[in-house]
Amino acid sequence: KFDRTPLIAGNWKMNMDHVQGITLLQKLAWTLSDARHDFSRVEVAVFPPFTDLRGVQTLVQGDKLKLVYGAQDLSEKDSGAYTGDISGAFLKKLGCSFVLVGHSERRQIHGEGDELLNAKVKAAFGHELTPVLCVGEVLEIRQAKTHVQHTLAQVRAGVAGLSAEQAGSLVIAYEPIWAIGTGEVAGPADAQEMCTAIRADLAEIFDAATAAKTRLLYGGSVKANNVASIMSERDVDGVLVGGASLDAGEFANIARFES
Ligand code: PEP
Repeated sequence: KFDRTPLIAGNWKMNMDHVQGITLLQKLAWTLSDARHDFSRVEVAVFPPFTDLRGVQTLVQGDKLKLVYGAQDLSEKDSGAYTGDISGAFLKKLGCSFVLVGHSERRQIHGEGDELLNAKVKAAFGHELTPVLCVGEVLEIRQAKTHVQHTLAQVRAGVAGLSAEQAGSLVIAYEPIWAIGTGEVAGPADAQEMCTAIRADLAEIFDAATAAKTRLLYGGSVKANNVASIMSERDVDGVLVGGASLDAGEFANIARFES
């Protein structure tokens, strides 16, 4: 499984202004810089608010650590009269490697639907950014036991029209909404169940070699004390962390899930 580089991703959400963001990142870089962390084996990414990205770029460029970063959203459009929106081109220019697409808070609060999110995935690839497509079910769907079907439909809509090469480089984050920010963690077996189903589906849509390359993350109340069991699952290639990514020490310990 570790042909796929593990990805430990921290989503800061609407926390940390650009001054606080720099402080957090400096602490994180400092904490991760001890010899116990082997950066060649794990990719550590942060997703700060848009307004922090320039500061993050400046800090990361001057640092020996290979921290990478991305934005929490992008416009499906390239440029023009779209007040308040941010183009993938701008994110690329700020050194972003990744961009979140369709986080449940975008889907639920901003009503972003599958068709728009597919356009955003394509826009991200169009600007050489790696989209992290977020999918997952609400509690009622889990209770009705239709969570796999529901989540696979989101995946299929999200990857529609991609080339196999794009699908192989895509990151998909399975985040059961009932486990986000609630302290409720889906069990490692639940994460594995969904990630296996997603990988099997990608093999069907594209091909097995492509599906073997796509990195699949789990997200939902991940902490340093539960990350190891989640990461030990065969099809889970990383984690997307919300709350716990705002604490440099905790996030660094998540990134050291192997030790
Ligand atoms: C998230 O929103 O992506 C998330 C996983 O949040 P938390 O870790 O706080 O549950």
